[in-house]
Amino acid sequence: MTNERPVYVTKPFLPPLEEFLPYLEEIWSTKILTNAGPFHQRLETELARFLGVEHLALVSNGTLGLVVALQALHITGEVITTPFSFAATAHSLIWNNLSPVFVDIEPDTLNLNPAKIEAAITPDTSAIMPVHCYGTPCRTDEIQRIADVYGLKVIYDAAHAFNVRVDGKSILAAGDLSVLSFHATKVFNTFEGGAIVCPDAKAKQRIDYLKNFGIADEVTVTAPGINAKMNEFQAALGLLQLKYAGNAIEQRREIALRYLDGLRDVKGITCLAERPGATPNHSYFPILVDEAYPLTRDGLYEALKEENVYSRRYFYPLISDMPMYRRLASADPSNLPVAHRAANQVLCLPIYPELGFSACDMIIAAIRNSRTG
Ligand SMILES: *Cc1c(COP(=O)(O)O)cnc(C)c1O
Repeated sequence: MTNERPVYVTKPFLPPLEEFLPYLEEIWSTKILTNAGPFHQRLETELARFLGVEHLALVSNGTLGLVVALQALHITGEVITTPFSFAATAHSLIWNNLSPVFVDIEPDTLNLNPAKIEAAITPDTSAIMPVHCYGTPCRTDEIQRIADVYGLKVIYDAAHAFNVRVDGKSILAAGDLSVLSFHATKVFNTFEGGAIVCPDAKAKQRIDYLKNFGIADEVTVTAPGINAKMNEFQAALGLLQLKYAGNAIEQRREIALRYLDGLRDVKGITCLAERPGATPNHSYFPILVDEAYPLTRDGLYEALKEENVYSRRYFYPLISDMPMYRRLASADPSNLPVAHRAANQVLCLPIYPELGFSACDMIIAAIRNSRTG
């Protein structure tokens, strides 16, 4: 049975409009639109409490968050990172005149493989930028151990890791800085937006300057900063979204469990295992399609399209295969076998709070019934 209406991989969550109107009225009456206004300040406080972190600085989007985080830590030279991510991870390095060095991923988590990091370190290496891919926590202890031995900074691209915890503790506290994205397609959105989670007030202060042109006060510009400020409209929406965030993740969890149940025994389909002790946010539902399945990954992608279901080949192509990166020595496919295999097998199935069990069951049935030809 084909879905009448298209089902996309995600659908942005929005609170009821009437609940947002009083916030708009307040903005219209105060005329404070941006520059660390009252909603911005409230969201920083309430979000830090919600996420269980000490300090964070809101930014206009996740990409500028990464760019600013690298500036804040004075990163130079080479940065070790994963090819299995969204383009912005490596692009943020290029915007800082840094050289990405790609290291392969682990087959189980699809995150940067700590065992492969040391071999990629050179005298020019100054940082590691791992990604908690799909919200699956990186092996942060092992990464930190290597960073400490070699004196490297660690900046996590935590765009997928909103409120992910390990043994009850926020994953966002790992490393020197972690960067969240609140883009429309993420678990928690402010239309566009993001935040940099900082270990202390001093780091936050520096980031607060950097995101506002480096301005410290009326007559003092301390650094060549940029404009990466979150505005009051975004911050107000964030405050309202926060009220629904727990519930939205719970609804995602139910969808994820439904998929897991329905797909567990399908030959050739692997649902990515969750790490023991981790509290996930179910931002994505990635599956791997291997040779035992009657269709290729692309075949299944097309078959689902026939059913009006638009899954996504995240992350394909690999960043290391994009034209601006593929000539780097570390981008050679022989250096990244696990990432290449994952990029050819992965498919993210639709998951969002309003998806509902009937659409979910239809997708499960389509995957179970797919045959070649
Ligand atoms: C979404 C995303 C970003 C970029 O965040 P924006 O807020 O869209 O700029 C960076 N890295 C990863 C892994 C992402 O998924």
